[in-house]
Amino acid sequence: MDDSPPISQRPADLADEDPPPELESSEGATHYYLPRQWSLSYALTKKQWRDFRERQKALDSDWTHCKCPKRCNAKTLDEKWKYDRARHTKSFISAAFICGGCHWLKTPPFRIKTWLELEDSVVPSPSKSPHIIDCLGWTQQRLDALRDSDLKTHRAQARRLARLNREVQQGIAAIVPAPPDRLSPQELEKLVRPGQIMVVPWRIDLSGLTRYGYEQNQIVVFEKRMYDLAAKRMAGDDDSALRGWG
Ligand SMILES: [Zn+2]
Ligand SMILES: [Zn+2]
Repeated sequence: MDDSPPISQRPADLADEDPPPELESSEGATHYYLPRQWSLSYALTKKQWRDFRERQKALDSDWTHCKCPKRCNAKTLDEKWKYDRARHTKSFISAAFICGGCHWLKTPPFRIKTWLELEDSVVPSPSKSPHIIDCLGWTQQRLDALRDSDLKTHRAQARRLARLNREVQQGIAAIVPAPPDRLSPQELEKLVRPGQIMVVPWRIDLSGLTRYGYEQNQIVVFEKRMYDLAAKRMAGDDDSALRGWG
């Protein structure tokens, strides 16, 4: 059966983005920033990611079937993360191969892209019943409610980002592309002037990778790649990024 999600050119093999990334409100002189598209599939080298996929296959003999009701073909390795908003920490929990339809549902940026395209009538309404209804048994009403809430979140986030961008441009805020305790006082001093609000990325916890047989030194390498990616995201390599630093 065709289980492709109702979205054109869905990138293959991208990771779980749930919940939608958002800016936390400021806490003292610090804004915590959760970058978009900040996961292992984006951060790892191709070779590291291939190896990770193989480790997952070795752990799950039934990996070719998604866990959805119709057990659709699974081809995308989906990462499961826990988001601790109080501690601004994103922790890797596990991964699983899932089908394209389930991956679409689990990935807010993909959903938002679909909703915006439908709004702009770039794509015609899908004629076939989408996977979310067909396989997962959602009602149209529930799907509409998801769309409304996604768009609301998306617009609120865009407003917060615009405000923070302005603050960075005006010099009220400064971007620190890693958790401050990973930087030396000298490095920090170069980035932030006294009185400026610090914009720092969330912390990452990859200890969950030990169950895949990764050694501590490999996990440290992956962590570094994740923070490098956060720095890139914050420096402006995607639409939602903060601009005007440096
Ligand atoms: Zn399914
Ligand atoms: Zn599925």
